[in-house]
Amino acid sequence: MDRNQAKQEIARLAREIEQHNYNYYVLDAPTISDQEYDALMHRLLALEQKYPELTLPYSPTRRVGVKVPSGVRTVRHELKMLSLDNTYSADELRDWYARVTSRLGVDRVECVAELKIDGVSASLLYEAGVLTVGATRGDGEVGEDVTHNIRAMRMVPLFCGADSGGAPRLLEARGEVYMDRADFDRINLIRRESGSEVFANPRNAASGSLKLLDPAESSKRNLRFFVHSCGRLEGAGQIKTHWDFLQLARRLGFAVNPHNRLCSSFDALREACRELEALRPTLSYDVDGVVVKVNRLDWQSELGETMKSPRWAVAYKFQAYQATTRVNDIVVQVGRTGVLTPVAELEPVPCGGVVISRATLHNFDEIDRLGLHKGDRVLLERAGDVIPKIVKVVEPGGDRRELRRLPTNCPSCREDFICRDGEAVQYRCVNPDCPRQLERRLLHFASRNAMDIVGMGEAVVRQLIDRGLARSVADIYDLTTEHLLELDFFAAKKVEALLEAIEASKGRSLSRLVLGLGIPNIGEKAAALLAREFRTMDGIVSAGPEALMAVPEIGEVSSEAVVRFFAQPETRKLLERLKKSGVRMDEPDVPLAQGRLTGQVFVFTGELANRTRAQAAQLVKSLGGEVSATVTARTNWVVAGQAPGSKVARASKLGIRIIEEKEFEEMLHDVIG
Ligand SMILES: [Zn+2]
Repeated sequence: MDRNQAKQEIARLAREIEQHNYNYYVLDAPTISDQEYDALMHRLLALEQKYPELTLPYSPTRRVGVKVPSGVRTVRHELKMLSLDNTYSADELRDWYARVTSRLGVDRVECVAELKIDGVSASLLYEAGVLTVGATRGDGEVGEDVTHNIRAMRMVPLFCGADSGGAPRLLEARGEVYMDRADFDRINLIRRESGSEVFANPRNAASGSLKLLDPAESSKRNLRFFVHSCGRLEGAGQIKTHWDFLQLARRLGFAVNPHNRLCSSFDALREACRELEALRPTLSYDVDGVVVKVNRLDWQSELGETMKSPRWAVAYKFQAYQATTRVNDIVVQVGRTGVLTPVAELEPVPCGGVVISRATLHNFDEIDRLGLHKGDRVLLERAGDVIPKIVKVVEPGGDRRELRRLPTNCPSCREDFICRDGEAVQYRCVNPDCPRQLERRLLHFASRNAMDIVGMGEAVVRQLIDRGLARSVADIYDLTTEHLLELDFFAAKKVEALLEAIEASKGRSLSRLVLGLGIPNIGEKAAALLAREFRTMDGIVSAGPEALMAVPEIGEVSSEAVVRFFAQPETRKLLERLKKSGVRMDEPDVPLAQGRLTGQVFVFTGELANRTRAQAAQLVKSLGGEVSATVTARTNWVVAGQAPGSKVARASKLGIRIIEEKEFEEMLHDVIG
């Protein structure tokens, strides 16, 4: 290949890779496997290494590889990024609408209603189609330069139209950087396990991640971005309305929220707000309202702005899922890895459709921060997710002199084995025989996604531990009819069923076993990747840190955790015993990626009980299936969880099979075995 051919090939590869990023991150409909994607990246890298001078400034290989200048740099927004006025009721929204129409001297005004994503506002500048600057909103006039992290977000196009000559001369796209709740949970889990402070909500997590200095680290946080407004635009032909701009942004390769609505009257607008609010529990990200904008750009400029906000736009805020209740007690919970977490036990109270009786306080410093005491009345809030949190004390009720007591020993085993992990506000029971930890470990091992031992629930596990029948997960396989008949409420039939379930679990795949072992930082996906890569338990045990880190999604922290876990003599002993009992130690031959859901297109709607929608989607993809965000004629299955959205209606109109979560789980079960 000569230099000229290399130049063309580099441009072609960059375009193709960016198209795949777009398919994956924006459309959520990848057309190639991860391996094929990696192969494209490797080819591009190899060419760029051979011809460094031909490397495109917007090369996809430079998303995370670029050195970040030290020190915080700021960006002055050419056009101020204003904040919006809020309205909290349909009446207030009607007042705003009345002001707008009267100022314009018209009866009605067409508006765009958009979900207000609870994230961080950012401004992305493209010059001649190439992303040059990414900045946070900051105070509206000056923001922080976070170009390196914006570039690391694969949902953001590095170039738009730059290759085809169809790029606007100048485009400042504004939007919201946000984090999916599934990613938020995953990151907090890792942080909790590794002793770092957890993020309070997805918005804080997005904000913190955007400010990281290392784009490679930030990239792992999986930040996302929706474009919602136009800052500046030059050389893009005639754009007369905001709606036109959103369509242009979509054509240029940006993600635009699919739920945006064009409303021709106030009634339509109010209805749109109601419908968007109803969507809230079905979304994978947090939203806190609807942003309403006058559609015509000439009317926008006619309306102008006040000192702090535009007159042509307003936020309609949703009701937060809030409630007040009394804290009956603050207890300490012991997790499966021994981490101690304070939990508030509450007077049960309904909040956003569920009754809440406990709220985790994440860590002991949180109690200080809230100034929380037993007996206080507190304000609870539930974001879209199910984990409620305490916002503040609204009425002190407890004895204020009673100081927060830090645990000095484990509430379960009473051992003094407590350590504060470095600077982090975390305590851990390090007693390997701690009963509560053992209980969590056994339950995790037997759980549905791990070894799936039906009938081994909390009551059974607790009794097994109390009676000394289970001191480790290996003991499960030594249980006999005599042992089980000792347990309360156990008769011959139940004993037989449980023993059968235990026997069946011996044949589970390696990935389930790895998950079941409860290695810190290793969740379902990482376990599956490890099993797929190393094929056998011995393969994983003997893998060094480098081999582990070569597995996608396994970073330094996880790799260290795996090495440390398998280096423990107890782990070795445990594996020996499991092997002796006949527990399968390898992964079935058919790699999951070649999948038995190949060619099947799934759409999820509503909240699932067993996993998040992101997890379900991941699973389908790992089995070769496709997941799409919208129902089309290509869709094969619509999986309807709780409170499904309009997709169900659309599916039944198109005659597409709608299944409940239970059927979906059965399908997976059949496929995975
Ligand atoms: Zn303990």
